Amino acid sequence: MTLVNPATGRFITDVEHSTIERVDEAVARATVAQQAWAALPPAARAAALRRFAAVVGDHVEELARLEVANSGHPITQARWEAGHVRDVLEYYSAAPERMLGAQIPVAGGIDVTFLEPIGVVGIIVPWNFPMTIASWGFAPALAAGNAVVLKPAEWTPLTAIRLGELALEAGLPEALFQVLPGRGPVVGERFVTHPGVRKIVFTGSTATGKKVMAGCADQVKAVTLELGGKSANVVFADADLERAAASAPSAVFDNAGQDCCARSRILVEESVLEKFLELLEPAVQAFRVGSPDDETTEMGPLVSAAHREKVRSYVPDGAPVAFRGTAPDGPGFWFAPTVLLPNRTDPVATEEVFGPVVSVLPFRDEADAIALANAGDYGLAGSIWTQNLGRGIRMSRAIESGNLSVNSNSAVRYSTPFGGFKQSGLGRELGPAAAEAFTETKNVFISTD
Ligand code: NAD
Repeated sequence: MTLVNPATGRFITDVEHSTIERVDEAVARATVAQQAWAALPPAARAAALRRFAAVVGDHVEELARLEVANSGHPITQARWEAGHVRDVLEYYSAAPERMLGAQIPVAGGIDVTFLEPIGVVGIIVPWNFPMTIASWGFAPALAAGNAVVLKPAEWTPLTAIRLGELALEAGLPEALFQVLPGRGPVVGERFVTHPGVRKIVFTGSTATGKKVMAGCADQVKAVTLELGGKSANVVFADADLERAAASAPSAVFDNAGQDCCARSRILVEESVLEKFLELLEPAVQAFRVGSPDDETTEMGPLVSAAHREKVRSYVPDGAPVAFRGTAPDGPGFWFAPTVLLPNRTDPVATEEVFGPVVSVLPFRDEADAIALANAGDYGLAGSIWTQNLGRGIRMSRAIESGNLSVNSNSAVRYSTPFGGFKQSGLGRELGPAAAEAFTETKNVFISTD
């Protein structure tokens, strides 16, 4: 497949796609590698992951530059992403020596549980955060004693391919972590149908996630799903409106809105709607959209021409645009940050746009805000702005969403659990329990008679 730079439209490289035969061969090799890996002393697996983290750390700039070219991410953010992969590996390098089972009181003997690795894990990654999302799967999966086959998205495979090489440079065993670029319906689907792949971690659209889940059902295969979102940023009249408005643009326009956690609906208490919009407008116009190579850029282009057309379809002529930011002209898949005042039921206010487009929707009171925040099938992230502590807690409990922040638009942290309610996902990644999600619990009773 031919890859082009989203900021310039210029050719980068061609990447060969894997065939089904190549996947089958990789799974066979992974199966052998996994058994040897799981048999190593826990401290040896921990040391190997620490070395992998260190090698990634030595290549942060190279990985970041690759992501700038392949995905159009601003360089400062791409550096953060590469550093995050290192941190995730370091965090889970502590896990092999902490895979604690339980000792349960029973009569006539002792009862203990073991957390056994599942075997070979298939990880399917989307194009919006190619390296970070890959690491949320492979780091805890390897830490728990599994082997990994990983499929990057068609448009953005370059950093994942490089991470596969760096794993070998760091001394990870051959075939333990294999990156297989290819098409979703070929490589991704073969991960799902291959009986030797015992768990799927899928991140992507809800529509594809449903297909993956149905495929896994056929073999009762374990599955974690991280899917779409339409998250609400809820601003009450008693909030620090200056702070809420100043931080709202980055909460939706970061990564050009191609973020599953994008706060793409701003819900504002109607008594302060006008004031909030007055504060939001200069913040949107000051949002720096430009060359991803520029150290001051906050937002780059969309990932492809086709994706820009999809985003554009949500803002047709005559759309209720309140105001817009700026974007460069010329080559590249640019789209200016756009603020809309639609009706609650308009598609742009209910569907995941996955671009720099935000809907501002007024609400009457707390009950109305809860109903509006919970409308729809998604439940991934969200923010609540209020100076009233009780209301902040009430809203956090009432919103059906996996990741909320009060008086902040917190990004994902590797040390806290991440995942969605409703059709935003199934299972959790990251946080202290993530490695356990890559194990089967085995109960053993040992008689003392
Ligand atoms: P997508 O569903 O089109 O593709 C995701 C991955 O699945 C790609 O690697 C693709 O090749 C593969 N795939 C496609 N068809 C497949 C099939 N039949 N079987 C197996 N694999 C298949 O999604 P996308 O457009 O790449 O990513 C955008 C979506 O991802 C958005 O909806 C976004 O919200 C979501 N996302 C969710 C999270 C999260 O953590 N919840 C994070 C990032 C992105």
